[in-house]
Amino acid sequence: MALFPAVAYLQPPALAAPTLPPGVDLLLQAYPRHLKGYADNRIIWKDGTTMQYDDGLLKTEDQTFDSTDLEDQINGLLYTPGMPLDTPTYNCDPGTFRCQEFFLKMYGTSEAEVRRHLVPVVWPDKKSGQTKRIWVTSINGVHRHLQAVANELAKRPHLRKYVTDIGGTFNWRPIMGTNRMSPHSFGIAIDINTANSEYWKWDHRETWQLDSVEMNLQWRNSVPLEIIEIFEYHGFIWGGKWYHYDTMHFEYRPELLPPPPKAIEKKAGRKTPVKGSAKL
Ligand SMILES: [Zn+2]
Repeated sequence: MALFPAVAYLQPPALAAPTLPPGVDLLLQAYPRHLKGYADNRIIWKDGTTMQYDDGLLKTEDQTFDSTDLEDQINGLLYTPGMPLDTPTYNCDPGTFRCQEFFLKMYGTSEAEVRRHLVPVVWPDKKSGQTKRIWVTSINGVHRHLQAVANELAKRPHLRKYVTDIGGTFNWRPIMGTNRMSPHSFGIAIDINTANSEYWKWDHRETWQLDSVEMNLQWRNSVPLEIIEIFEYHGFIWGGKWYHYDTMHFEYRPELLPPPPKAIEKKAGRKTPVKGSAKL
């Protein structure tokens, strides 16, 4: 009589792992200190609160800007690292769909609350060897990521004209002409040198509100790829990727910039972003 291995009968059938909706894994990986899971269309925060992931609504682009859910934030517009291969298509501003509820909860619901988490980063300043302090949030280690950017930039004097006399970091304010808070409000954004970069509204100071102007923007950029790559490597997206170009602007958005695979990282000779406290 043939004996079947007992194990074949004792093992229960394997349960299929629950599949997460697209983008949820990127969000959970990007903010592990704050988010712990997902269930029933809701992101679960470590403090036990939950937030709707997908509102399930079909929205126009303008409606999405005014009512961005977490799913829009991740999947709404694809952010591709590096220099755009072509000028951005009309109204395509990847990274500008921001779920306001998410950023307020993560970084602070008032100016005073955000300010409580601001810490200095030593930034390369105008003259060789000199530095100055700039302030960003310590939440999610943004200060450490920006310090790593600063350390890389400090080693490259040929980039100095782009990174000295910066436009600013923290500024609690709505985006001009909207009731949405600027990412600068949360201490996660930096504008580098304004004189050596471009902003579509400054290129059309008197006329930017005209539809005929806004619909026919000519993308411009003078920020070198080397700077963009350094920021992106440390989790900051670039505003030069937008149809509404803002080439001085970088903001910490790791959910849109998943870490490079280990093999590629090794080949490029990079080390993982700085862990531990910054040298201030
Ligand atoms: Zn900015």
